[in-house]
Amino acid sequence: MRREVDLEEISDGKLYGLNDMVKADCNDCRGCCDCCQGMGDTVVLDPYDVYRLSSYLKRDPKELMESYLELGIFDGNILPHLRMEGKEERCVFLNKEGRCSIHPARPGFCRLFPLGRFYENNSFQYFLQIHECTKTNRSKIKVYKWIDTPNAKRYDEFVTEWHYFLKDVQEVLYRTEDTELIKNLNMYVVNRFYLKPYEDGKDFYEQFYERLEEGKGLMSLEK
Ligand code: SF4
Ligand code: SF4
Repeated sequence: MRREVDLEEISDGKLYGLNDMVKADCNDCRGCCDCCQGMGDTVVLDPYDVYRLSSYLKRDPKELMESYLELGIFDGNILPHLRMEGKEERCVFLNKEGRCSIHPARPGFCRLFPLGRFYENNSFQYFLQIHECTKTNRSKIKVYKWIDTPNAKRYDEFVTEWHYFLKDVQEVLYRTEDTELIKNLNMYVVNRFYLKPYEDGKDFYEQFYERLEEGKGLMSLEK
């Protein structure tokens, strides 16, 4: 089932670009780790997240999947998400001191929070979620600084491409009742974009776009 959200209810009503100031900076989250627990299967990873984690932890994606990630269904797509463990459903990467043990390689979802992405017309803008972060005295910060990712513009382009590719996959998945096709398509996405390692030291985006072109070709055959 697709999720529908009313932007008016969950945001301050504004949309932001990379160079805009937004009241998102929770000053290093001092003393708080609320959004690192009880998140269920919602911290969904994109291929860049898995590449970044894999390089940082020096573990291949299959090992990451066995130890730290799980597959779940998200808007019809089968995608990896961070594993939450124990009674309090703590993220596997949250240490005893309540800090993120993989901070330099944390996924895009964690970098964004409490921002979200609003997709429209083959693009997206950021919005501030007003009911999520429990810190009330947040400071203003430029969006690109907050997401703390090299080459933010290129990253945004990748995020957009990935989002709309998954939408195309969803269209096929929602339209068909062929269970073999559903399984094969989902496994194709997981294997091709997540489990097949990206070469370290070689530009991630170039490798991703090669795979994307192949994936788009496949989707055009299914349409
Ligand atoms: S990866 Fe780090 S920042 Fe993200 S939920 Fe886990 S502990 Fe929190
Ligand atoms: S709820 Fe806000 S302050 Fe607390 S860990 Fe998350 S982003 Fe940081």
